[in-house]
Amino acid sequence: MTGEDRGGDEYEALLAANREWAEDVSRSDPQLFESMAEGQRPPFLLVACCDSREALEVATKAGPGRLFIHRNVANQVRLDDPAMDATLEFALKALPIRHLVVSGHTRCGGVEAALDGGGSRGVVRWVEPVRELAQRHREELDALPDARARSHRLTELNVVAQVTNLLRHPAVRRKLDGGGELALHGWVFQVESGMLREVELPWDDWRQEGLLPSNRVTGR
Ligand SMILES: [Zn+2]
Repeated sequence: MTGEDRGGDEYEALLAANREWAEDVSRSDPQLFESMAEGQRPPFLLVACCDSREALEVATKAGPGRLFIHRNVANQVRLDDPAMDATLEFALKALPIRHLVVSGHTRCGGVEAALDGGGSRGVVRWVEPVRELAQRHREELDALPDARARSHRLTELNVVAQVTNLLRHPAVRRKLDGGGELALHGWVFQVESGMLREVELPWDDWRQEGLLPSNRVTGR
């Protein structure tokens, strides 16, 4: 593709909007870029889906410097993923992270692929843990009235499973064992309304599994 035939209008509009944004911020908050150049001090680490509708900085009005976001298809936390290792090791060592959040969203293509087996080879392989999760909850999911309800429920189950994986990740364990405090949260971003819904987390199960050895892990 060349510059002339790459859908130039929408691309140029994007860069023009960036110039406008940078000028607006320079006027309304002249210190912001100066402080950004000094470094970052985000209190929130989020694991979210790649989906373009899950616009978390916009939806929470967080602004630059507040959310440290790791994205992949269907917001997976895998213990064999070097990208996740790098994110967690860096963030929990170098940044003042106090909250770990996994945020899924309704109408997630990754979750739907795990349910119906559709999608490309790469997607099918990536969402295999979500497919296994669906198998483990087959009875509950099959009892739901339709595909939409099954997808919503699997999205919630997936968020819980990924927060649990965060709790098992060596970088998180090191942080807690070293006396660090972290609050854990699960969200589902509702693309139909723009609202974030908090997912109930299985604190009692985690306690029984010995994943909460101290009171340094909280829900707030
Ligand atoms: Zn998604």
